[in-house]
Amino acid sequence: MEQFLISLGTAIAFNLPIYFIAKKKKLLTPDGIITAAILGVFLFIVTPLAWMLLIAFFLSSSLLSKVKGDSKKHLHEKFSKGSQRDAGQVLANGGLPALLLLGYVLTNVQKMTIFLQLSQLNPLSSWLLGYAAAVATVNSDTFATEIGTISKRPPRNILRPWERVPPGTSGGITLLGTGASFVGALEIAILYVSFLSFFSNYQPLPTLTRWSLIILLITTAGLTGSLIDSVLGATIQEMFWCIHCKKETEQSLHVTCHSPTKKIRGIIGFNNDLVNFVSALITSVMIMIISTMLFS
Ligand SMILES: [Zn+2]
Repeated sequence: MEQFLISLGTAIAFNLPIYFIAKKKKLLTPDGIITAAILGVFLFIVTPLAWMLLIAFFLSSSLLSKVKGDSKKHLHEKFSKGSQRDAGQVLANGGLPALLLLGYVLTNVQKMTIFLQLSQLNPLSSWLLGYAAAVATVNSDTFATEIGTISKRPPRNILRPWERVPPGTSGGITLLGTGASFVGALEIAILYVSFLSFFSNYQPLPTLTRWSLIILLITTAGLTGSLIDSVLGATIQEMFWCIHCKKETEQSLHVTCHSPTKKIRGIIGFNNDLVNFVSALITSVMIMIISTMLFS
């Protein structure tokens, strides 16, 4: 109990400044802050590794959303939500990682103290790799969106590359955005390996070849996830048409004119949050299968 209170206190101490910044900079809506705070404290208590990866995603994507923020303003009416993240987006990005971490906890329950010892983390655990892949996917996807939308060249439809689409269209990709997506995935892979090679003393520790393989796996997973996200965005994601503005939008009620819209394609309920969640789920399951075959 005493140990739990200490880890809870540490978790809150580490999380508070982040949410203070998020509130001040208007990065999250009020329900987004509450959801993120609960998630952040849970992740930190289980292991600071998990917390650090998700915070890296949160901070780098928030910084990127401010890059050329003015030139992106006109795109926000196209996306279903503005630059502030709400509870749905927090869960779409952080819910799956939290479930994967729970899987790690349940399968290592005999070794668990409440504050999972950093030195006992197994870098080759398929749960932890699945976790990293999920975060790499959402990070990669955010990098692609934020950097891709400032591309001077118009995006092309991922399934019909000869077809140019307006910036901000779901399923539209640019070379710049795809490069950014690679960087976003690599960032998480490098953080994962740096953190674990520094803190973990799990025996046997991975060899240099295996550490490199882990970087390759997580980066590929993130990049693949971001491309899957674009494919789903171009196919089954719900898309509406505002009769008033004569524009395509992700919103069922168009925010700029408050007019109802009509569905033009996709599956009802399959919004951007769900597309993010499903793409991360696919890559996590893939990396879990591959790492189990490689490392055990
Ligand atoms: Zn409208």
